[in-house]
Amino acid sequence: MTRAVIALGANLGDARAALQGAVDALSKTQGIDVLAASPVYETEPVGGPEQPVYVNAVILIDTSLDPDDLLTRANAIEAEWQRTREVHWGPRTLDIDIIEIEGFISDSERLTIPHPRAHERGFVLVPWLTVDPKAELHGAPVAELIQRVDASGVRMLQPRVELKVSQ
Ligand code: ATP
Ligand code: CA
Ligand code: CA
Repeated sequence: MTRAVIALGANLGDARAALQGAVDALSKTQGIDVLAASPVYETEPVGGPEQPVYVNAVILIDTSLDPDDLLTRANAIEAEWQRTREVHWGPRTLDIDIIEIEGFISDSERLTIPHPRAHERGFVLVPWLTVDPKAELHGAPVAELIQRVDASGVRMLQPRVELKVSQ
């Protein structure tokens, strides 16, 4: 099994239900164990058109799938939530990004690992740190990367909302 970090985001429809749905669908996938999920964050959109606020979370998984199959599965779960791609960085019912896969680097358009924009995104780094306080990205501690980004638009939902992780 290989450890991987997945970022979830949604800002259309019942966005919190979509995050939980993604966790449930990944958990049910043969070859994926969901180990932990961050609390749910509410975040201001970054880039793209004017659009509703997002909910975001980061989860840790162990997987025996190869990276390409993991991406295919992630895309299939997005499709189950009627994810469409009309506007670049536009609003979406569910986004599942693979942030990192232990011991794996890829630079293709279909799959870039580590995720090429994760290091500059508070909505990824802040929840990630809650599930893995020792996390590193490109050799830099995530705790330090957070100091360099504008995380002012990243707020933990209050009261706290936890995604259910069933083993
Ligand atoms: P961003 O990548 O900046 O977060 P986005 O999530 O809005 O933008 P999408 O439209 O969801 O972008 O994805 C575009 C393509 O990115 C997908 O078809 C997928 O093949 C590719 N991709 C490359 N690397 C990754 C990755 N690490 N995780 C998920 N998708 C990836
Ligand atoms: Ca994304
Ligand atoms: Ca994506």
